[in-house]
Amino acid sequence: MNIDSVDLYYLRMPTVTDAADGSQDALLVRIRAGDHEGWGECEGSPLPCIAAWCTPMSHGACRPVEDSVLGMPIDEPDDIRGINALVRDQSLDLLQAAHTLSGVDAALWDLLARAREVPVHTLLGATTTHAKLPYASVLFGDTPEETLERGRECRAAGFGAVKFGWGPFGRGSVDEDLALAEAAREGIGDDRHLMIDVGTRWIDDVGALEVRARRLAELDVTWIEEPFRSHELSAYAAAAAIDPHVPVATGEGAHEPAIAEQLIRHGRIDFVQIDAGRIGGITAAREVAEFARDLPVQYVNHSFTSSLALAASLAPYWDLEDSRFCEYPFAPSSLCREMTTTNIEVAADGLVHPPEAPGLGVTPDERAIERYRVPLEISVDGQTLFSG
Ligand SMILES: [Mg+2]
Repeated sequence: MNIDSVDLYYLRMPTVTDAADGSQDALLVRIRAGDHEGWGECEGSPLPCIAAWCTPMSHGACRPVEDSVLGMPIDEPDDIRGINALVRDQSLDLLQAAHTLSGVDAALWDLLARAREVPVHTLLGATTTHAKLPYASVLFGDTPEETLERGRECRAAGFGAVKFGWGPFGRGSVDEDLALAEAAREGIGDDRHLMIDVGTRWIDDVGALEVRARRLAELDVTWIEEPFRSHELSAYAAAAAIDPHVPVATGEGAHEPAIAEQLIRHGRIDFVQIDAGRIGGITAAREVAEFARDLPVQYVNHSFTSSLALAASLAPYWDLEDSRFCEYPFAPSSLCREMTTTNIEVAADGLVHPPEAPGLGVTPDERAIERYRVPLEISVDGQTLFSG
């Protein structure tokens, strides 16, 4: 079969705020081939992603993503890998292409797996699966007291691991940061995993981590996330040598597998966090998972929007037994909760289990899409390039 159509849907909450909540808008991708259909989601600003899909060619290595997708055959997993490679080649100089490709690639895996009536991870070659321990992802409170309370809520909700991030952490003094971390630990209790997300706020300042390391180690922090920006390889390598060692997690900013692989190999990170909606889809994420499989690093998904994005982010590493954790959006927007007819739930045993349904195991709700869809038309020189 060949790819007959690709439809992009720009969805948005009625009001978008400056809160660090990435679930306020979304870009969905629907692909049809023959009698089959698949869905994916891009983790990127919707309009630039749509532009990358249909923009007029700038030159031979800066083509719109659609040039590498429409009409292509899709009968085998290698066809999807071929499309992925072609987009990277033909859209080499189009930086937003990776985000657009991510949703397209996920939709292609969903489509082909549905056609064969198997889950995507089976199509990827996974022969075993291992349930993951979800961590609730929450913001630090503005004060230690608020953080303590938020930790108690997560504990009461049954999560075995909780990640606190953003908010005031990293903006104030060392003592203020440590008071927040101590409140988080007290709130969730000593028997739960505690992660802390710095959100790249220290840029490349290794000393900022070093001066907090002893106390963070005493608080038994499972990882400190994104202390530095994605490409600060030297800072990550220096952090790996700090004594006592605080495990480091990063990788969500990677928009191609090579960035993540450099962070593992040269930045010597302990956890690599991959967003399949950014890195180039399930194909690219699986490449990193395979790379990480036999190295001293755990693969973790990065995902904070809908169950569709979550399913795509989980598909690449169900068979990695040593990669135990998964990010689980704790309180996404109503748009992301309503976008699909089924949601990925935490089971009674406190774990997230692999879907058994064909494809990604999650189906978008077309009525919800209509409720949140933003009509859009892009025209250039009187010619309509996109309408949806
Ligand atoms: Mg993060």
